[in-house]
Amino acid sequence: MPFTLRGDDVCQITQPSPIPNPYWVAFSASAAELIKLETGRDGLPIEASWLEVLAGNQLDAGQTKFSDPIATVYSGHQFGVWAGQLGDGRAILLGDINGLELQLKGAGRTQYSRMGDGRAVLRSSIREFLCSEAMHALGIPTSRALAVVGSKQAVRRETMETAAVCSRIAPSFIRIGHFEHFASLQNVVRLKELADLLISEFYPECSPGKDPYLNLFKEISTRNAKLVAQWQSVGFCHGVLNSDNISALGLTIDYGPFGFLDHFEIDHICNHSDHGGRYAYQRQPQVMHWNMACLASAMLPLLELEYSSEESQALLRSALEDFSVIYAREWQQLFRRKLGLQSQQDGDVALIERLLQAMHDSQVDFTSFFRGLGDLKKDSMPTEIMQRNDFIDRPNIEKWFADYLVRLQSETISDGARKALMNQINPKYILRNHLAQDAIEKAQQDDFSEIQKLQQILSQPFDEQEDFDHYSKPPPIDMQRVSVSCSS
Ligand code: AMP
Ligand code: MG
Repeated sequence: MPFTLRGDDVCQITQPSPIPNPYWVAFSASAAELIKLETGRDGLPIEASWLEVLAGNQLDAGQTKFSDPIATVYSGHQFGVWAGQLGDGRAILLGDINGLELQLKGAGRTQYSRMGDGRAVLRSSIREFLCSEAMHALGIPTSRALAVVGSKQAVRRETMETAAVCSRIAPSFIRIGHFEHFASLQNVVRLKELADLLISEFYPECSPGKDPYLNLFKEISTRNAKLVAQWQSVGFCHGVLNSDNISALGLTIDYGPFGFLDHFEIDHICNHSDHGGRYAYQRQPQVMHWNMACLASAMLPLLELEYSSEESQALLRSALEDFSVIYAREWQQLFRRKLGLQSQQDGDVALIERLLQAMHDSQVDFTSFFRGLGDLKKDSMPTEIMQRNDFIDRPNIEKWFADYLVRLQSETISDGARKALMNQINPKYILRNHLAQDAIEKAQQDDFSEIQKLQQILSQPFDEQEDFDHYSKPPPIDMQRVSVSCSS
């Protein structure tokens, strides 16, 4: 959908800055299909000039021409503190194709770059590329990644690195921060235009009723509540849940120092700059709720077009309370499915929580454990299962397994059918940090084969793929705590 708002107070026409001698680092043929970009046998665009377009070096390829690339302005709360105006400091929206927006991240400075250089490094671009595509394959709403184009242009971070441009695709990149921006300027006209744009293009169900803006808030909040439940269910930590990184469409966007849990640690912090653990794994739902409160506050003037200030606040407050209910319902459903439970019974939540506590206490690998759980037979002996896992408090986990088996026996589904269902929700393969790191280190030596391999494996995360079994394993000890720098 084209970002149709125009005007200096909304966006600036911005030409990408070229990079010298661009080359393909990664390309997603499946993302290319979304924008009907034809690819050849090598999996790359048939129209070769797409390399220059996705590098930010030219604006046309074959029949496609981007006439007015823009950078948009938004504001936001960073780590809980109002940060004022931010904006697309290094993302340039080329335009829309086939109803989707195509954005170049790292394509040079914009009006909103502040002190930044407008660039992205190869390392973080590969991570964003791999994770976007992996999340999509896991069935989690996300922006997609089309390509990473590299260059030997130097970029200064903690050390000298090289530049890359990650091209990404989404129906829209509108964020909570866009609402906050116009709200902070008390610009109700723009706020209304933004909300109307979202409703007409993405939330048409909100418009016929009496309360379009209240309904819009509820829908955005619902989508983000469900999104964060999905993150929790695969052990995904976003790392920087600032309000400017939260999508108004409930997509996972702005991949930075994210990480998938290897061993289960409920308070795991993946972002090295997050000293207080504001964005730790277990805090993600609360923090998303907090971001929805920012959205509610930003949308208040829209409700006040129809209601008194007090009524508007009461309506939004009540809608905001629904977040926790929706999140909890979604989380319970997902974890029930992870445990292979078909019915809903009292005691299920306690059973799930006891398991997670035991996994945390013993630092059990999150993904492998759930995947392995599908192998259980209803008549297995708890001790037999125990051999395979590294729980420290054995009496406790034996008791848990005994209770779990009783619970499984209360259902009629066969072991085989249950396993098949569990394997559709418990992935075997996730983008573990050490795997991404390995692909990055090879790419830094101009070997991009590992990126392709990971891309292929992670495109079918629920399949066995025996040949790649070792990619499903927890990291070796020396790679267990790969540090992920916040710089990108
Ligand atoms: P992030 O934490 O990556 O979501 O970025 C927060 C803000 O900083 C956004 O407005 C980004 O556009 C901007 N930003 C991050 N890195 C750069 C950079 N290298 N150059 C310009 N702006 C940047
Ligand atoms: Mg961002």
